[in-house]
Amino acid sequence: VKCSKDGKFEKGQLSRYGNIELSPSAGVLNYGQGLFEGTKAYRKQDGGLLLFRPDQNAIRMKIGADRMCMPSPSIDQFVDAVKQTAVANKRWVPPPGKGSLYIRPLLMGSGPVLGLAPAPEYTFLVYASPVGNYFKEGLAPLNLHVEDEYHRASRGGAGGVKTISNYAPVLKAITRAKNRGFSDVLYLDSVNKKYLEEVSSCNIFIVKGNVISTPATMGTILPGITRKSIIEIAQDLGYEVEERVISVDELANVDEVFCTGSAVVVASVGSITYQDKRIEYRTGAHSVSRKLHSTLIGIQMGLIEDKKGWTVEIH
Ligand code: PMP
Repeated sequence: VKCSKDGKFEKGQLSRYGNIELSPSAGVLNYGQGLFEGTKAYRKQDGGLLLFRPDQNAIRMKIGADRMCMPSPSIDQFVDAVKQTAVANKRWVPPPGKGSLYIRPLLMGSGPVLGLAPAPEYTFLVYASPVGNYFKEGLAPLNLHVEDEYHRASRGGAGGVKTISNYAPVLKAITRAKNRGFSDVLYLDSVNKKYLEEVSSCNIFIVKGNVISTPATMGTILPGITRKSIIEIAQDLGYEVEERVISVDELANVDEVFCTGSAVVVASVGSITYQDKRIEYRTGAHSVSRKLHSTLIGIQMGLIEDKKGWTVEIH
């Protein structure tokens, strides 16, 4: 659906997946005026589909749109588009336990701009694809590499929103880490080069005894919807949860590390390598991360009662 800079978004329509037409001077192509979201639909045993907190994706897109000088669809319009996309692609949603339908909302400056300015017209669209596990390791623990040359975000930048322009600059670090056999990259803050931020597409948590800590977002870390949900689940399970500054030096002295994100859900970290020193962590059936994973995925798949009203059932 399209909208002019100050206007409302038109009513959307479903269309077959295919190429879209853009002006060569579209704001998104020239100045990176674009945002995306990611969420999943799971198939329940009874055939229905479950979405997980799509309103949270809508809110995050609204905040991101404001940061990137773009108008955004209303919460209802966003959620309705996600629901319609899931229902229209129902036959592509894998059976329970075999994966999910990944749903990708995109908002972009589609109108032409030559001088640096907000685009005069915007397009909001949603597409979907069936997916299995995000990392090729599946449920196996991740091996992360701490990056100390490239940073994902800087103070006052746009690291706290899901703009497309945050992602290309980390491809080099990701490719280099993958070529060296790591699963992904763990980024440090760009000012002190010392405090943990996040992984390329997920947030990070550390566990020590009964205390679970995750870096405070401070505008440079994406406030993950999985992060927020896991904080609540962990508190309900009796853990103490802290959002604070975490130094890379602390990694040598924790019991467990895990990542959270819509794509990975909760993934245990088996090792972290920092300046050629490799630290290994507890993983496996009795780990905190496994417990959090089974609770969250249970809610998302409709196997555990959703007492929080997080899931949205569609038919
Ligand atoms: N950090 C980054 C940089 C991400 O791209 C994502 C994926 N959206 C996350 C964290 C996790 O966020 P969420 O739990 O909302 O998927």
